[in-house]
Order: sequence, then C-alpha cells, then structure tokens
Amino acid sequence: MKLDPDSAYVRIANLTKRFGDFVAVDDVSLDIRRGEIFCLLGGSGSGKTTLLRMLAGFESPSAGTIRIDGADMSAIPPYERPVNMMFQSYALFPHMSVERNVAFGLEQEGVGREQIRRQVGEILDIVKMGGFGARKPHQLSGGQRQRVALARALVKRPKLLLLDEPLAALDKKLREHTQFELINIQQRLGVTFIVVTHDQEEAMTLGTRLGVMNHGKIAQIGTPSDIYESPATRFVADFIGSVNMFEGRVSDDGADYLRIQCGELGCTVRAERTVSCTRGATVWTAIRPEKINISRQPFGAGAPQAGSAENLVRGTVREIAYMGDMSIYLVQIDSGRMMRVTLPNIMRGAERPIAREESVWLSWHGSSPVILTE
Ligand code: ATP
Repeated sequence: MKLDPDSAYVRIANLTKRFGDFVAVDDVSLDIRRGEIFCLLGGSGSGKTTLLRMLAGFESPSAGTIRIDGADMSAIPPYERPVNMMFQSYALFPHMSVERNVAFGLEQEGVGREQIRRQVGEILDIVKMGGFGARKPHQLSGGQRQRVALARALVKRPKLLLLDEPLAALDKKLREHTQFELINIQQRLGVTFIVVTHDQEEAMTLGTRLGVMNHGKIAQIGTPSDIYESPATRFVADFIGSVNMFEGRVSDDGADYLRIQCGELGCTVRAERTVSCTRGATVWTAIRPEKINISRQPFGAGAPQAGSAENLVRGTVREIAYMGDMSIYLVQIDSGRMMRVTLPNIMRGAERPIAREESVWLSWHGSSPVILTE
C-alpha cells in the first residue's frame, strides 16, 4: 500500500528496546515523512543508535512496531528492507578502487556489468567524485572518502538511508561544507534520510525536523526553529543552544501574558503567555543569550517602559569572550547569579565597547522568555 506523500513514510509506534533490565529505547512513537531529513539528536547513550539499528533490522524491538511505506517490518530481515545504513565508521575497502568500493554491493547482488558501470558512474557524479574512480581510498582526503562512502550507501537507491554520525570524522570546516552537500544530494535523489548526531549545530543545519532524545525517550519533535525558539522542557532548552534559566512563581496570569516573580533573577518577568499555568505555580523562565540587551543605561532600545522594573536587571560584566562574529558577556547580576549575553560584532572597532567590570543593565522584550512548566 502506498501512502500519501504527506503522511508517514516511517511509522514508529510504542517502540521499546531492553537490554536485560536496561531500557535503551523507551516507548518511542514517531512519524517520519517521505523525503525529509530527520535528525535524531541526543547525548551519549540516549538511545539514538539503538533506534536506528531497529529501523535497519539489526536489533529486534522488545515491544512496539515499525512500518515503512505501510509495511510492518517485524518479520522482514535487514537485507529485504528498503533501507541502507551508513555507519559511524564507514570503512572503505582499502585495496579496492573507488569504483570497486561503490560497485561492491551491486556485484554481490549479481547485477549486470553494464548496469553496474552506469549506476556507479551516475552516483559518483552526484557526489562529485566522477574523476576519482580509479583512486584507492588512501589517495583521497577525508571529505572525499566520506563522499565515496555516501555513494556506496546510495548506489542501490534505497528509499530510506540511515546515517549514524555521518560527518564525525571530518574537521569543522569540511563538516559544514559536507552538510550542505548532503542536503543537495538528498534533495536531488529524494531519498528519506534519518541522521543520528550528537552535534546540535549539525542537526539544526541538516534537519527538516529534529527529534531530541533523552534517556531512551523522545523529549521533543519539531523543526529546528520550533525546538530552539519554543523548547517544551528545561532539558530541551538547555540541550539546544545556551540558555539562562531561572526558577520562579507565577504572580499574575493574564489572558495573553504572565508575570513571574523570580528571586534568583531579582526582578519580575513579564512574558507572553505560551503555556497554561495558574497563579502560584512554579515555572522556569528561559532566556536565550542573544535575546538580551546589554547597555550602560537602564532603558535602552527594546527595553521596557521607564519606571517599570520588569524584565530589567543590573549587573557587572565579569568576563568577555571575543569570538570574531560575536562576543559573549558573562554578567553577574545583583542577585549573584551569572547571565550569559551575546552580541553580534556588527561594526569593526565600534564606539567604546563595554569592558570587564563595568556596571551594565540587562533587559529583554516580553516575547523573549520561554516559560517552562517541566
Ligand atoms: P552515542 O551518541 O554515544 O553513540 P547513542 O544515543 O547512540 O549514544 P545507544 O548506542 O543507542 O546510544 O545506546 C543506548 C544505551 O543502550 C547505552 O546506555 C548503551 O550502553 C546501551 N546499549 C546499547 N547496545 C547495547 C547492548 N547490545 N547491550 C547492552 N546495552 C546496550
């Protein structure tokens, strides 16, 4: 049965994997759409690889089901699934040329010579390795080897490609470059990709959607901006990007705003209401460092109305890290807590920059904080 392109291509329902008493994947339900790059993101040991291995058929679930393109995979062995997996260590055969490495899987299946030649040629062109067919792996750079491994995984035109930390072996620059290439190749071939990574920047760049995993469970699923701008829990807010987080109590719950008394912050937070909670409830206010204004005067651009003490705190700059494109300020606020603020370095040698040990005011707009209840 073919599914509508907008509906789930991969449907994971209540999937659990136990190793003895240990639950590596815990009751995960997840739909992956046809043609998307879905990134599974999470810390070490959160269950990402185990989930991927169950999709490929290398591990059998303790409970739950996997359907691919409508078909139940329970009784389908790995080699009969419409899936290919590219592993963390994508070792190429060192004694074989690039062409032979890519052709290997097709030869094993007894595909005719002419067809192999054509398919290998096509896929090497797609990964921009067309001129390198005769080389051996040791005559290639890391990024080129990576592309050959990708060609090998794609040559049989799987409908679903599972990639486990595909770019882990590359240095930062090459990694970024290869991320964009991977997106191009995926779009050209229309293959559905599921990518496991522990690198949040990689997940944000590659993923049409992300699933954040924590202790075997999916903590949140969404587009990169959903996850970054509207994290559902403290874990997700803290795991993706940097965040300043303060515990507080709801003191006023309006129809479209909340007021929160935050002792740790030393001021009242007024925030747009995005969650349901009632007066007196304990909540956490999460504010991203780039959404905070830092100024010598208390009421700078974007700050609250003069006279109100909401969304405004005073502090002293303790550290400044110049990162080139931006600077990070660590500010100790009057309550004693540290806050992290980032500012883009828009102009070279801008007018007198804020220095260490200066007194500053931090302020933010009511739409900046995210209020979390768990
Ligand atoms: P990493 O980013 O470190 O690769 P991961 O999120 O991919 O981590 P998994 O490899 O899925 O994590 O492992 C999840 C948990 O399951 C870990 O605690 C791991 O030790 C455990 N685990 C994985 N495979 C087995 C196994 N065959 N037997 C016992 N425990 C296992």
